[in-house]
Amino acid sequence: MKIFCIGRNYVAHALELGNDVPEEPVIFLKPKSALLPNGTAFYYPEFTNELHYECELVLRVSKNGRYIAERHATNYFDAITVGIDFTARDIQQDLKSKGLPWEKAKAWDHSAILGEWKPITEFAGQKSIEFSLNKDGETVQKGESSLMIHSFQRIIAEVSKYFSINIGDLIFTGTPAGVGEVLPGDVLEGFIGADSLFKLEVK
Ligand code: MG
Repeated sequence: MKIFCIGRNYVAHALELGNDVPEEPVIFLKPKSALLPNGTAFYYPEFTNELHYECELVLRVSKNGRYIAERHATNYFDAITVGIDFTARDIQQDLKSKGLPWEKAKAWDHSAILGEWKPITEFAGQKSIEFSLNKDGETVQKGESSLMIHSFQRIIAEVSKYFSINIGDLIFTGTPAGVGEVLPGDVLEGFIGADSLFKLEVK
């Protein structure tokens, strides 16, 4: 199982971190060990002093493929949820400034949080999927799929140019503006619309 992640997929988020808005999707991966298993506690990692949440829509791949055309890409995912792409921002800024890869900042054990899945058919005919993140009961991030620079279909087309995608792979589609720091004791809750799909306490 592979976990694909898209960076800088919302204009306001690219700008809040001082990045250019990319013409092509920024793609990186997390290993399977990045996924926090269901029912496992999440501990603040000891190697960072600036842990950030990034709340994102996540797609579940339902069909194997390579070189998928954008117009066929809708057939390749069957469920959606919200998740967190946890980021050690201090480490990422250091790596970025040196032009080095991001794995130490993004791909560590339990850096990927997933909510409960919703079948994609629930959203058929809906132009945009709204999602949000609460921290300690207050909304800190709000996003909607219509504001993504690269659509779900474009992401699948682009990812599958370089990597085969397989049933069960996950695609984190990028975070909207409003990323910020979390501390031990904070409770993060992710929503699609009004439905709470995960609730996570940082230990
Ligand atoms: Mg992200």
